[in-house]
Amino acid sequence: TYDIHVIGGGLAGSEAAWQLAEAGLKVRLSEMRGGADTTPAHHGGDLAELVCSNSFRSDDATSNAVGLLHQEMRALGSIIMAKGDVHAVPAGSALAVDRDGFSGGVTAALAAHPNITIVRERIDTLPDGPAIIATGPLTAPSLAGGIGAATGAEALAFFDAIAPIVHRESIDLEVAWFQSRWNKGTGKDYINCPMNKDQYLAFHQALIDGEKTEFREWEKDTPYFDGCMPVEVMAERGVDTLRFGPMKGVGLDDPRTGRWPYAVVQLRQDNAAGTLWNIVGFQTKLKYAEQIRIFRTIPGLEKAEFARLGGLHRNTFIRSPELLDTTLRLKSRPNLRFAGQITGCEGYIESAAIGLLAGRFAAAELTGKTIAPPPVETALGALLGHITGLAEAETYQPMNVNFGLFPPIPGRTKKADRKKMYTDRAREALPGWINSLPPGPPPVPQPA
Ligand code: FAD
Repeated sequence: TYDIHVIGGGLAGSEAAWQLAEAGLKVRLSEMRGGADTTPAHHGGDLAELVCSNSFRSDDATSNAVGLLHQEMRALGSIIMAKGDVHAVPAGSALAVDRDGFSGGVTAALAAHPNITIVRERIDTLPDGPAIIATGPLTAPSLAGGIGAATGAEALAFFDAIAPIVHRESIDLEVAWFQSRWNKGTGKDYINCPMNKDQYLAFHQALIDGEKTEFREWEKDTPYFDGCMPVEVMAERGVDTLRFGPMKGVGLDDPRTGRWPYAVVQLRQDNAAGTLWNIVGFQTKLKYAEQIRIFRTIPGLEKAEFARLGGLHRNTFIRSPELLDTTLRLKSRPNLRFAGQITGCEGYIESAAIGLLAGRFAAAELTGKTIAPPPVETALGALLGHITGLAEAETYQPMNVNFGLFPPIPGRTKKADRKKMYTDRAREALPGWINSLPPGPPPVPQPA
């Protein structure tokens, strides 16, 4: 017998199981790998396997949002951070790990915990009792079908067509201007970056010549969504295809010339705070370095800072802002919580962080307590806020943690100072919330 069922022993499920077990609850942790099944990206049977890079990214908690998230997770006794620290390899200011040592360490810790039973089994239907679903971007198709039915989605596994997202403060508004085409809506819904003919032709050629990433073998048979054709594929169709498509200049009056531009790049607001803007129609398979190089040739984006670069890959996630409540429960079936990348966060650490929160929320609920979500000023709170409400449900896309998800710092400040202001403010906000929680695992020491 057990108190709660955690499905999926990846980054999120392992962390959730640990938090629950340390709160005294009996956990059944079902992981299909190590049995008869696997996913197209995993190689072994250990829990919390890192499918690609061995990096947890920056460990700098004063000027980097993911570094701050590391620090907050350590304060909450994260098993992923504990084992990451033990198995760290030299990587400058980043935290990178020996991948086998790390996953082996997480597996051993969970296997040794008296409150956790690891079962190597694939779950094909959603359970009736309390559960956390943490089956990740490569959720087994049978369960994905059940999740689709419960959430009303036609499909869950599809190509994520990701357009790059830019920090608003890095856009040059001496060149770009706010206006909706034909002044529709508020009249100022988009940021427009104008191009003359020469600039457009050079840009068009750069898209065609830019280096692209290849599809992986197992991605080749996944369907495209309509309307998510990569920008470089559109460019290849003809020199004017983009200029008559997403880059058309009609109905937009450049305040510097009083005329419609030859072509335009439009950005649309991406979060409620208005700090992040996505480049409309610019989903792409260009390599990251190429995107930065080519997109910074767009007038007004010469100094663009990207919160996320574009991409196109297979993914599985639900429309969390619409479907989940603020403690990650499925509104239509509140005994089920979701955690990890399937909620629409992106990255090992973000997935583990949402697993940590799901575990804490579930542990509190099962012991008759309620806890408030973490303050939005913290990295945990900002990431959770993005998932459970602040993002637009219609255009919801997975996202790494970044300062654009935090409430803005009022007034004008230098960029370097602002990062420290974000992290200082988070460090002030976190302890009060931690003190309000029922007991969990002891904190993991912060590295010197
Ligand atoms: P996972 O870690 O994938 O865990 C889900 C687990 O659920 C798996 O162990 C799976 O076997 C199991 N499972 C699935 N269905 C069932 C079922 N029906 N029953 C039982 N068990 C099931 N992020 C980064 O930060 N850096 C990277 O380099 C990176 N590279 C990536 C490369 C690829 C190819 C992909 C797909 C993603 C990558 N990500 C990367 C993004 C993402 O953060 C990771 O995939 C991360 O592991 C997600 O954590 P998770 O716990 O949500 O899912």
